[in-house]
Amino acid sequence: FDKFKRGLAKSRDAVFGRLTGLFQGRKLDEGLYEELEEVLLLADVGFETAIWLVERVRRLARETKATDGAELPQLLQRAMEDALADNEADMKVADSGPTLYLIVGVNGVGKTTSIGKLAHRFKNEGKKVLLAAGDTFRAAAIEQLMEWGNRSGCEVIRHSQGADPAAVIFDAIAAARARGADIILCDTAGRLHNKANLMAELSKINKVVERELPGAPHEVLLVVDGTTGQNALLQAKAFLEVAKVSGMIVTKLDGTAKGGVILPIVREYHIPVKWVGLGEQMDDLEPFSASAFAQAICQ
Ligand code: GDP
Repeated sequence: FDKFKRGLAKSRDAVFGRLTGLFQGRKLDEGLYEELEEVLLLADVGFETAIWLVERVRRLARETKATDGAELPQLLQRAMEDALADNEADMKVADSGPTLYLIVGVNGVGKTTSIGKLAHRFKNEGKKVLLAAGDTFRAAAIEQLMEWGNRSGCEVIRHSQGADPAAVIFDAIAAARARGADIILCDTAGRLHNKANLMAELSKINKVVERELPGAPHEVLLVVDGTTGQNALLQAKAFLEVAKVSGMIVTKLDGTAKGGVILPIVREYHIPVKWVGLGEQMDDLEPFSASAFAQAICQ
């Protein structure tokens, strides 16, 4: 929880910081609810979710017979927890054999960093992890993944730039079997501006994965940059059209007041947020917790 609180300090200032000035010495009345809605919009919660949250706060206030503005942070925290109630942060794993996770997202959002952080975490849990350099479009992407492989002490399966990503992942699956690896983390290209190509590439990868490793991919994780707020939502929407996304990684929440964007991702898009990036270091990736998140930004 401390990590959440530290990492979400800027989002906390945007929500709780503004709330404190708002509720002191006031009653829970219509004027206050309107101001609450504005605070939520500024925190990138989005219009629909802001209205939903305020309605929920109203109802909770009625149910608990709360009338004092000082109760607002606690009511809002509960409303946020309700909004995030469907979030399922658990990661699926294979019944037997290696577990394979595909990581998708546009360049620059923190995809490679998140793969490195996940590798580090799984390795610390005693698992053998392989990285597959499936973004063969950019030479820099392969090099960067190699760097994270070094840092986390995990082997990287790679081909040269321009190679077929599906072939890289085919090799990674064979290598994982041969070495008895538990987890394969697959990087993929993030050329969303070329939707048809991206879709073709991801579907070819999927075909190979499903054929070579029945039951896989066990998760398709979409990485989005939390600092882009509502734009992260648009990006998610575009990706949902090309990939079967099963969960999200929201990065860079430490550098932004827009952490509120997690609420519409879960409530309106129905994609669970599985991990959040709270810094640039190897262990700055945390499994998402609805209650820790709500508490960190409302209290
Ligand atoms: P990719 O192109 O999507 O693979 O992006 P990178 O993994 O190279 O990350 C882009 C930049 O974002 C790098 O400078 C990372 O250090 C930084 N970054 C990634 N995740 C986080 C995070 O959770 N917090 C912060 N502050 N920076 C991050």
